[in-house]
Amino acid sequence: MTRKIYAIKVHLEHAVGISGFGENGLPMNPQHFYGAIEAGGTKINCAIGNGPDSLVAETRIPTTTPAETIAAILAFFAAHQTRYPMQAIGIASFGPVDLNPRSPTYGYITSTPKPGWANVDLRGAIKRAFDVPIGFDTDVNGAALGEYRWGAAQGLDTFIYLTVGTGIGGGGMIGGKLMHGLVHPEMGHIRIPHDHQRDPFAGACPYHGDCLEGLATGPAMEKRWGTRAEYLPLDHPAWDLEAYYLALAMHNFVCMLSPQRIIIGGGVGSHPNILPRVRQHTQTLLNGYINAPDITQHMDQFIVAPGLGDHAGVLGAIALAISAESAKINLG
Ligand code: ZN
Repeated sequence: MTRKIYAIKVHLEHAVGISGFGENGLPMNPQHFYGAIEAGGTKINCAIGNGPDSLVAETRIPTTTPAETIAAILAFFAAHQTRYPMQAIGIASFGPVDLNPRSPTYGYITSTPKPGWANVDLRGAIKRAFDVPIGFDTDVNGAALGEYRWGAAQGLDTFIYLTVGTGIGGGGMIGGKLMHGLVHPEMGHIRIPHDHQRDPFAGACPYHGDCLEGLATGPAMEKRWGTRAEYLPLDHPAWDLEAYYLALAMHNFVCMLSPQRIIIGGGVGSHPNILPRVRQHTQTLLNGYINAPDITQHMDQFIVAPGLGDHAGVLGAIALAISAESAKINLG
C-alpha cells in the first residue's frame, strides 16, 4: 500500500509539470476542483478535490430520507463553492440506477428495496443546484474508474471491481469502457453452487434466496452464524466458506469476461482472512484450465485489494466528474 501511494504522488507531480492535463486526459491543474458523491445505502461520502493527494474537503452524511440526505449534500457543496469552484460533479451511486442518457429516468435510483429511495432523481437534484457536467454511474463502476486512473487497474483495459460488504456489487471495464449494457451488471446476483449439507443457510437475497449476494454478504454471514462478521475469530469456518463462495464467483467472472485483474473491496472483502483464501480456492477451482501466467503463477497480483484503499469510491466519483468534464457530457 505504501509503495502504491508513493507511486501516485510521483505520477501527479510529474504530470503537473507538463501541462494542465496528464495521462488519460486527467486534469492536473491544482485550481480545478471536482465534486464527488459516493452514495451508499447507509452513508454518503462527499468530497471536493482533483485526485488522491488533493482532497480539499470531505464529509460523511448518513443516508436517511432522500429529501434530508440530498439537502445535506447540497449544503456541503454550497458551503465550499466560493473557495473551491467545481468544474464538474461525479456521482457513484448504489442502485439499481438508470444509466441510459436517453431514458426519461436517467440518473434515477430505480428499484432499490431501500425504503424511500426507489425512483429518486438523484442526478437531477444535483444538476438543478449546480449547473456543471455531472458524471453518473454505479458505485462500483465509479470505484473501478478511480482504480483505473490512480490505483490497482492502471494500464489495464479489462478488469473487474467487486465490493463485498452489506451488499455485493461488481463493475469494471471491458476494452477500456465501463461496463453498462442493457442496465448495468449485477454481479452480486449470479447463481453459484450451494452445497446444502455444508451450508444449510437458505440465503438472504429477497429476490433470489441463495444467489451470491444471498449467501456471501456481511448480513448473510451474520444471519448464518449468529454473530456479526467482524466478531468472528480468524480461525472460524465462516471465513473459508465465505472465501469459497467468492472464489466460485471468481471462477465465473474469469471464464466469462477474461479480466486482466479482479479488485475486491468492501468491508468483508477487505478482511485480512479473505483475499489469500479466495486466491487459493480460485486456483483450485480453475484447475489449471486458464493457461495464463497471471493466474497460474501470479495469482497474488491477479486478485488484489483496491490500490486506493477506503478512498476508491469517493476518488472514483472524482474520476467520473473528470470524465464528464473531459467529454463535455452535459445532458441537461
Ligand atoms: Zn439476488
